[in-house]
Amino acid sequence: MQESTLSIIKPDGVEKNLIGQIYKRFEDSGLRILAARMIHLTKEDAEGFYGIHSGKPFFSDLVSYMTSGPVMVQVLFGEDAISKNREIMGATNPKDAEKGTIRSDFAESIERNIVHGSDGPETANSEISFFFKREEICLPTI
Ligand code: GDP
Repeated sequence: MQESTLSIIKPDGVEKNLIGQIYKRFEDSGLRILAARMIHLTKEDAEGFYGIHSGKPFFSDLVSYMTSGPVMVQVLFGEDAISKNREIMGATNPKDAEKGTIRSDFAESIERNIVHGSDGPETANSEISFFFKREEICLPTI
């Protein structure tokens, strides 16, 4: 099924100058970028986006990390985009991530793990609308 998902290149990915390499992996796997923006999240943005983790012991570290520098946010679109993006990303902990995935190749730790990707259709919808207005998403014309 053709669907959309939200991807974030986190502050460590931007700092390591990996935007192009990561975009190439999306494109090589058939995903299209329909919207993209670089932003520096505020504390309120990061707390809102990761609200589901607000009770977790790592929450304040996660918010500090996500606000430590600019991030690239993008809407990816294509066949099974949600699971395909999660596959390209690899497991949350880079130690468990399959070789050749973004997190296995570039991430330092379970926290500083380079990328975010929505984990299901409902989160994809809500996360896309967290960052983008409908008119900012350029649907494919082909
Ligand atoms: P994801 O969907 O693979 O990004 O993983 P989760 O939704 O479970 O966690 C969200 C983010 O919180 C992860 O991508 C990490 O940046 C961070 N995180 C998850 N688990 C831990 C943990 O045990 N410790 C720390 N410090 N950060 C974590």
